[in-house]
Formats: sequence, structure tokens, C-alpha cells
Amino acid sequence: MFTPLPEHADPWWLADAGKRFIGRLALDQLSRLSEELPEPRTAVEYELVFGRDQQNRAAVHGRVKATLFLQCQRCLGIFEYPVDREISLALVEGLDEARGLPDRYEPLLLEEPNISLVDLIEDELLLALPQVPKHSAEACTSGVEQAETAPEPQQAVRDNPFAVLDTLKQKPD
Ligand SMILES: [Zn+2]
Repeated sequence: MFTPLPEHADPWWLADAGKRFIGRLALDQLSRLSEELPEPRTAVEYELVFGRDQQNRAAVHGRVKATLFLQCQRCLGIFEYPVDREISLALVEGLDEARGLPDRYEPLLLEEPNISLVDLIEDELLLALPQVPKHSAEACTSGVEQAETAPEPQQAVRDNPFAVLDTLKQKPD
């Protein structure tokens, strides 16, 4: 089942109408995200469900799911980065309203009457990106991680004799 995403839509109307969108978007269509990603660019599966909760709050629930390819900033290799992000956004018109939201919601601050649902999906993926993309320490071929996090056994050895000396000194003879 494919529901085409409207280019721009009134989110309040979508919430009142209980609109639901499910589909796939090629990442090449997301210009801000594409800039961050090397080839190959895959696609994102999305589900967006607009509605009102029990407090009559307009909200969007759903998820974005994609396998991104990122470039490791340590060895410059390409690696797979799965994203599976749940969306729980409450529609708000100001920062005060955003601060008053229950914890389960992130605010979707609306500054214009219409929003782009493509932008919304892209924003969620951008939020899911790591600040500095890199392999796990075991998978990275650069070997830098091991050097950075190697323990310093000399330190421990150096500290211990002093501690022993201190206790010896304090012992009354
Ligand atoms: Zn790497």
C-alpha cells in the first residue's frame, strides 16, 4: 500500500483527518541528507500517522527505517549504518508549548501553516546520524582506536608503590 506524500500539507488538518502515510523515498530525493552520504544511497521506509491523542493533542507517530552507508572518518572506509527510529512528535506553535509537552513527545515546532512531510522524514534521519561517523573499534582498519583507548599499565604500577609507602610511613612503630 503506497500513499503518496503531499508536497506540503496543513498538519492540523492531517491530524484531524487521521491521515496515514506509508511508503519509501529514495535518499537521493533528500538533498540535505544526500550531501552527508557517500554512494550508494539507499532508500528510507517511512510510516507517518497523524492524529489526536486522549488530551486532544495533535501528534504524529510513526517510524523511519533505512540502511545508510556512511564514511568512516577514521579510515575513510564505507560502512552500513542501520537506522530504525520511532517518531512521536506533538504539533506545537511556540517554545513554551514545546517545554510543556509530556516526555513521550518531541516537539514539532510549526512556524508556517504548511509543512513538508519529506522534510520531516529527512529531519528524523539527520537526527539519527552519528556526530562523527566511524566504524566500531574492532571493524576499523585504521588502528587508531586501539592506540587511543589502550590502558596505561605503567601508570598503575607507578601509583601503587607510593600508596604502599604512605601507609608504611603512617604506621606507628
Ligand atoms: Zn574505519
